[in-house]
Formats: sequence, structure tokens, C-alpha cells
Amino acid sequence: MQPIYEGKAKRLWETEDPSTLRMEFKNDATAFNGEKKATFESKGRLNNAISTLIYEYLEKVGIPTHFVRQIDDINVEVKRVEILMVEVIVRNVSAGSFCKRTGMEEGLAFSKPIIEFSYKSDELGDPLINDDYIREMKLATPEDLAHLRESALKVNEILTEFFSEVGLMLVDFKLEFGRLQSDPSTIVLADEISPDGCRLWDAKTGEKMDKDRFRRDLGGVMEAYEDVLARIKNRLATESN
Ligand code: UDP
Repeated sequence: MQPIYEGKAKRLWETEDPSTLRMEFKNDATAFNGEKKATFESKGRLNNAISTLIYEYLEKVGIPTHFVRQIDDINVEVKRVEILMVEVIVRNVSAGSFCKRTGMEEGLAFSKPIIEFSYKSDELGDPLINDDYIREMKLATPEDLAHLRESALKVNEILTEFFSEVGLMLVDFKLEFGRLQSDPSTIVLADEISPDGCRLWDAKTGEKMDKDRFRRDLGGVMEAYEDVLARIKNRLATESN
């Protein structure tokens, strides 16, 4: 069997149900648009576990997503969607390409979250685009874009609170959305939410607990992901008591 899609960190497979797909988390890590590569033995399992708990939580608090169920250690079942070619980035604190672009130092808290869009194109290196580009490139209608912005801000509020309860600061993150194949007028949150696509800093020490450990050769990459997972599990265990 061949996957119907293979990306840098995941593969998508057909299932017996034509309305769903199996999303497999790979152990491969990439950074700088694929220039830097490595494999971490437990990465697929950790990102699957973290993303599953976050998606289940988001569904529970009313955010529609593509998530159906966890299948096993490295696989989840997701609704079939057509991914919008717009990545939505939310920033609460300055870091990464924001600092590179502006010359501002890392770690400054913004007065309000910043929403940013980029064109999902590996070939072009996911360039920054704005509402007018998105309209003219026909990546999304202005109404859809307003919905993406509103959803991203809501997810940010929910996850900022969620992570702060486990001593983590949600610095920034990337979201992807897709149109349900069964109902293309409905746009849901898709892809994964894990330390691969979020910046998470320990609230007390400021230690980086995300893919920046890999990008910057800080070591302890999987240990940090393990720690994030343990904190999330603790937080959810307290909730169900
Ligand atoms: N991000 C991502 N995929 C991308 C670009 C960014 O998951 O293709 C995430 C990244 O991990 C960070 C946030 O989005 O949490 C903002 O990333 P930034 O624009 O600062 O880019 P980077 O520093 O990764 O170049």
C-alpha cells in the first residue's frame, strides 16, 4: 500500500471508510524548510500522544476539528479534508521569524496576539502573505479568512490557559485548517498540534520545551516533548477527578 500523501512529519493513508484517513506520525524531524534533518525514535509516538490529547480537549470545549480517534501509538483517524493552503500563525510573545523580520529581541510579550498568514508552499519556503494576497491567490474567501482568524484567536485563548495551568507559556504556534470533504462549506481545524509547531517555554525558567531545541542544537529534544506530554496528562487527570 502507498500513502496518499507523505509530508515531512506525517503520512496519510486511506481507510476502509471513504470519509476518513489514517494520519501516521513519523519519527523524522526537519527544520529550516527541510534543510536540517534528523530522526528521533519516539517522536511519532510523543507527537501523536500530545496532539491527540489536545484535539480531544479542543473538541470537548467546542472547537470543530478533523480528529476522529486515536488508532494506536503513531496513528490517528481523521476526517478527510481539503487542506487550505494558508498557514495561520498566532504569536503571543516575540520569537523566531518575528524577531528575524523586525530586529526585536526574543521574549517580549505582545499587548494583543498577532495573527499572521503564510502560503503553504515548501517550494517557496512558506512566504508571509496578507489578506489581499489570500483573496487574489484565491486561497480562501474573505469570509473564510475571517473565520480562520476568529478560530485561531479562540484556540489561542483556550490553549494559552491550558498550557499556563501546567507551567508552560504558549509563545506562538501554527494552525492549519481544512474543508470537510463531506461538507465543503465547513472548515475545521486540521493537521497536528504538538511541540513541532508550537513554541512552549517553561513559565518559571524560560527553558524551551519545543522544536527550537532541535533547531538550535540544545539537546534533550525528546526529553522536553516527554515532559510536555507528562504535564498535559497530569492536567487532564486533575480535571477528570
Ligand atoms: N511553524 C510551523 N511550521 C512552519 C512555520 C512555523 O509549525 O512551517 C510554527 C513554529 O514552530 C512556531 C510558529 O509556527 O511555533 C512560528 O514560527 P516562525 O514564523 O517564528 O518560524 P520559524 O522560527 O519556525 O522559522
